[in-house]
Amino acid sequence: MKILILGSGGREHAFCWKISQSELCSQLFIAPGNAGTATFGQNIEININDFTAVKEACILNNINMVVVGPEEPLVNGIYDFFKNDEQLKEIIITGPSKAGAQLEGSKAFAKSFMQKYQIPTAKYKEFDSSNFTEGLRYIQDHPLPIVLKADGLAAGKGVIICQNHVEALSEYELMIQQSKFGEAGKKVVVEEFLDGIELSVFVLTDGKNYVLFPEAKDYKKIGEGDKGLNTGGMGAISPVPFATEHFMQKVKDQIIEPTIFGLQNEGIDYKGFIFFGLIKVNEEPMVIEYNCRMGDPETEVVLIRLKNDLVKLLIVMDQQKLDEEKIEVDKNNAVTIVAVSGGYPEAYKKGVPVNLLYLENPEARKHIDDDGEGAIVFHAGTKILNDQIVTNGGRVFAVSAMAEGLGDAIELSKTILEQIYFDGIYFRGDIGYEFVD
Ligand code: AMP
Repeated sequence: MKILILGSGGREHAFCWKISQSELCSQLFIAPGNAGTATFGQNIEININDFTAVKEACILNNINMVVVGPEEPLVNGIYDFFKNDEQLKEIIITGPSKAGAQLEGSKAFAKSFMQKYQIPTAKYKEFDSSNFTEGLRYIQDHPLPIVLKADGLAAGKGVIICQNHVEALSEYELMIQQSKFGEAGKKVVVEEFLDGIELSVFVLTDGKNYVLFPEAKDYKKIGEGDKGLNTGGMGAISPVPFATEHFMQKVKDQIIEPTIFGLQNEGIDYKGFIFFGLIKVNEEPMVIEYNCRMGDPETEVVLIRLKNDLVKLLIVMDQQKLDEEKIEVDKNNAVTIVAVSGGYPEAYKKGVPVNLLYLENPEARKHIDDDGEGAIVFHAGTKILNDQIVTNGGRVFAVSAMAEGLGDAIELSKTILEQIYFDGIYFRGDIGYEFVD
């Protein structure tokens, strides 16, 4: 099978690593990819939100399967584009449809969906210019902190947690009246603050059945001790110690199954990943957000623990027979630690030369072996310029490692990170800190 992966981050490099292990994959293409994905297949330099360009790449390379990494093409309807095109409709593509991608693309849609199907989530109300003044009163009477969310995609920046009413009223006004987050943010969800510990749960669904992937916990803040600005993610661990069997049973019963039932009941075509951003509040799971794709950097720990053939799972998903599949997970602990460009998540330089010293050190040059031990360097934001690997993003590498103990996995990841050099490199030394002595 010829497979095309869309995206250019660590998540897509991890998909390459996993998919290339499948005997069902004969050739791999990545659009646009990065310097790491180029070692697994052929990078194709196109804009993945230009569906005509994606179509041409599929036809030219006889693609049989497309794995969509980021949310934007899904929210823009790439799945429907494929299904409605005579030349593309037989290609297996990870969805969901545009309707299903609203779970991520519209916070207001996701909230009303959860309310309708009694899925536990924070209490909320939505406002736009038509009920603006009602919103002002609602915020004034709302207990603190107050969470404001732009309805549409806002590149991970659309959530503001306000500690006082003056700030909340001002942000609310900026969003609706000054279009702080563009058109997509002119509708605002105002919701109660949930106090608890977060985790991410992933399923692959065929619209009727689902398989549960390993859960993960990510670290969003730039600074150690979870301080400072939010980022796309500085690291992740899997398994999550507090995701006990008992807790996960509640997640299945109260969240995953009602979600899949709801999608089916609404007649929504959903063949793809659902990423549940959850929070544990007094032992109970609640949904903070849905995403319609895998997470980054969570994929870099989830896929290294997944023992199944991912290509086979995607074929079975397309046939709507996921009830026949059993997921096998490595019991070892996985971590990924992200190395970022100096200055990130604010302004940073691109095109900085990278020196991968670990490649010259046979001791450190490990892979994950059959016993679930080892490390692997996923490229998150790199490219090749004149035969030299250079930085090409804020997040540059995600170094994943796996060992029996989480502490050993973290040490292994750091050993490799210390052998990666580029000017301005920074990574958090405390990923997984709550769970190691
Ligand atoms: P989202 O984009 O919805 O995932 O929100 C980004 C982050 O904001 C989440 O990962 C949470 O840490 C935080 N957050 C969002 N909604 C809430 C809430 N209702 N209560 C507490 N924290 C929240």
